[in-house]
Amino acid sequence: MARYTGMNCRICRRETMKLYLKGDRCYSDKCAVERRNFPPGQHGQGRGKFSDYGLQLREKQRIKRMYGLLEKQFKTYFKEADRQKGVTGTNFLVLLERRLDNTVYRLGFSNSRDQGRQLVRHKHFLVNGKRVDIPSYLLRPGDTISVVEDSKSLACINDALEALPRRGLGPWLELDKAKYEGLFKTFPTREEMNLPVQEQLVVEFYSK
Ligand code: SF4
Repeated sequence: MARYTGMNCRICRRETMKLYLKGDRCYSDKCAVERRNFPPGQHGQGRGKFSDYGLQLREKQRIKRMYGLLEKQFKTYFKEADRQKGVTGTNFLVLLERRLDNTVYRLGFSNSRDQGRQLVRHKHFLVNGKRVDIPSYLLRPGDTISVVEDSKSLACINDALEALPRRGLGPWLELDKAKYEGLFKTFPTREEMNLPVQEQLVVEFYSK
């Protein structure tokens, strides 16, 4: 699958918020948003107010970039969320959270979603005991995610696990650090996801 390969910090600055795309650096004073919290480029500091459309577009871009997705895949999730019963915006975020690469990151097996995606692709994880190398694999309540035996010694996985307390574990997940195994207990609620985004704006954007 294609993916964005540009400068991550530039993306955060464009969205004027920390999207936590670079692991350790995001928690240090080297973070570009901490240093220069305005959009990059010659006119970065001179941008005026956004129109309604502009606000919706920015929010959509923010969430898309936070999860490291491209437009086509992102829109497919929206269509699926819209088809489901319940609140479309919440359904949408739950679908994004159910992705295997995201859960690997949330469980602390990687320092960023991007790294989680790479580790999944390189076959370092089992879901319910079977090797899965599809980052977009959607987890269901009761699924277990574990690190392949040979990969338990990988420095990047162990470093990420050490750093997990810094961002905490979502209440819909459980982690057995000693076994390198996590459990996707249930679908998260909107409050549990604790995401600083306004998904309703994305719903409005795609509903035009
Ligand atoms: Fe974003 Fe992390 Fe770069 Fe800060 S260090 S701008 S949070 S990617």
